[in-house]
Parts: sequence; C-alpha cells; structure tokens
Amino acid sequence: MHKAVILDRDGTLNEDKDYVYKTEDFKLLPGVIEGLKLLSKDFIFVIITNQSGIGRGVYTEEDMHKFNEKLIDELKKENIEIKKIYFCSHIPEDNCDCRKPETKNIQQARRDFDIDIEKSWIIGDHPSDIELGKRMGTRAVYLLTGHGKKHSEDLAKPDFIAENFMEAAKFIIKND
Ligand SMILES: [Mg+2]
Ligand SMILES: [Zn+2]
Repeated sequence: MHKAVILDRDGTLNEDKDYVYKTEDFKLLPGVIEGLKLLSKDFIFVIITNQSGIGRGVYTEEDMHKFNEKLIDELKKENIEIKKIYFCSHIPEDNCDCRKPETKNIQQARRDFDIDIEKSWIIGDHPSDIELGKRMGTRAVYLLTGHGKKHSEDLAKPDFIAENFMEAAKFIIKND
C-alpha cells in the first residue's frame, strides 16, 4: 500500500481565478515545487479537482485536459510525478457523487493506486477539501492560498492551517 498526498488543484498548486482553464493563465504557486519534492520521498500524489466550470459551460472538458497536461508537464520537468488527475465536471445542483466533498473520486484513486487512506493526507484551499478528508479518515491541511482566506470561517476542522504549500509540506513530514 502507498501513502498518498491527495492534492486539490486550483488555489493549491496553481493560481486560481474565478475559473482557471487557459494554459496562458497557468502559474504555479510559490513553494509548490519545493513542497512536492519534500513530500515525494514518502508519498505518491494524485489530484482531485472540482471543475464545475465545465458543467456551467464556461469552458470545455478539452480545455481542462490541456490545462492539466500543462500542470503535469511542468511538474515532470522537476521530476515530480502526479499519478492521475480525477475531476468532477458537474454543478452542485446535479447532486453527483464525485463533487468534493463527495467521495467517488477518492475511492477510485484508492483502488487505482492501492492507497493507504488512513496514512494519507489531503491539501486544499476550500472547506470541501477538509470535509472530504473528514469523511474518508485522512488527515487534512488547509491552505490560506487561493480561496483559503475567504472561507476560513466555515471550516471543518483541519489538522493544520498553512500559509503556503511549503509550510503544509513541512507539517506533513513532521507529523507523518
Ligand atoms: Mg481549490
Ligand atoms: Zn461530479
């Protein structure tokens, strides 16, 4: 079994806008490369992302895949491997079972990569990321990058609140 860090995408790894999907808008957040390198000694990585912009017609699934490829490529250049990106394209009103904090995608990741969920962590900048961790029994770090500051009031209790990705990574290594 593998220990994993389950990563949110927008506002966690790359800069968020209201909807970010153009590759020219792709920008990694500070500390992400260094943080992932630190974590990669002990953990595998998957990304789980809510992409309701597809369901809302703001951009297409193809746009998202291009953006994802850009992200994967930039990380690969640094010898960082993302095993897979799982996404939900629905809007909340669809009541699907894959939009975080629903658990379908994380369950699938667990099966795909034999993830030891209790020894795994989630990092995200939205309360739904922390809630997902609570539902699954991972530990969870909340990031104040991205949307983090906006939502920090209505938060299910994370194990740690980090100012940035590197701080999150250091906490995880220390408390692993
Ligand atoms: Mg996010
Ligand atoms: Zn969904």
